[in-house]
Amino acid sequence: MEERLANAEIYCNGKKTTGIRLDVVCDVDNDAVAARFFREYGAMFVAGNGVRFPVKCVFANDSEVQAYQSSASPKTQNIGGTTIVLQESAMNALQDAISEAAKKNLRITPRGGSIGAKRSFQDTVDLWYSRFNPALVYWTGKGKISRRDADLARGMNIQKQVAQVLEWENKGYYFSKDLSKSILYSVAAPGASQHIFMLALDVEQFGNKAVRDILAKHGWFQTVKSDLPHFTYLGVEENKLPSFGLKPVFASGQKFWIPNLD
Ligand SMILES: [Zn+2]
Repeated sequence: MEERLANAEIYCNGKKTTGIRLDVVCDVDNDAVAARFFREYGAMFVAGNGVRFPVKCVFANDSEVQAYQSSASPKTQNIGGTTIVLQESAMNALQDAISEAAKKNLRITPRGGSIGAKRSFQDTVDLWYSRFNPALVYWTGKGKISRRDADLARGMNIQKQVAQVLEWENKGYYFSKDLSKSILYSVAAPGASQHIFMLALDVEQFGNKAVRDILAKHGWFQTVKSDLPHFTYLGVEENKLPSFGLKPVFASGQKFWIPNLD
């Protein structure tokens, strides 16, 4: 993959830097999971406007996640009856969007409770197994995956397990909730969710174009194709997104900004 620059501040070993090479953050050439992560969730790395970037793209455990989250200016707010946490600039932009929506009698609220915004490492592990376990039982029952391979996969550490699932999906054995598409369109790999970075919000009113337009005006965009309720704070104007290495793609009549890897 060609060298790609992140266009905003990145904190690396406690030092503020700009223009860090993304392959330093995401080892896309040597790590299949990181490469896949970047392809599916990489839009987040173009964020501007004072957000704090992850120094790596997949967190290995809870203490790494906690260290990152506590250093990234978390802001807690009650939104429509649900307490959520986001990075401060992301939260401020969201509140501006909510005020603008209110003037048009529209609401913007989190979907699925508090985990619609910040998630812990364990939240991402729990969500992973909510897809992994039933899908594995299904494909084993269909005789597509042997019981021995299934047991081996259950015993793997999480990184190896993710790689194994992606390998099975290459053969058409999908692990999403409805088994029709990749698990990564259904849940993130453990430690890899945009929600961990406190720059993502699942929005209840995602189906309303007027709401999507207001969110976009305030730097919030859909960036994970096929994950319709999921918005990411990129903090830049929409017309500048192509110059940050993103391209628009359309699915289910909605627009997603994803890394332009062509
Ligand atoms: Zn989400």
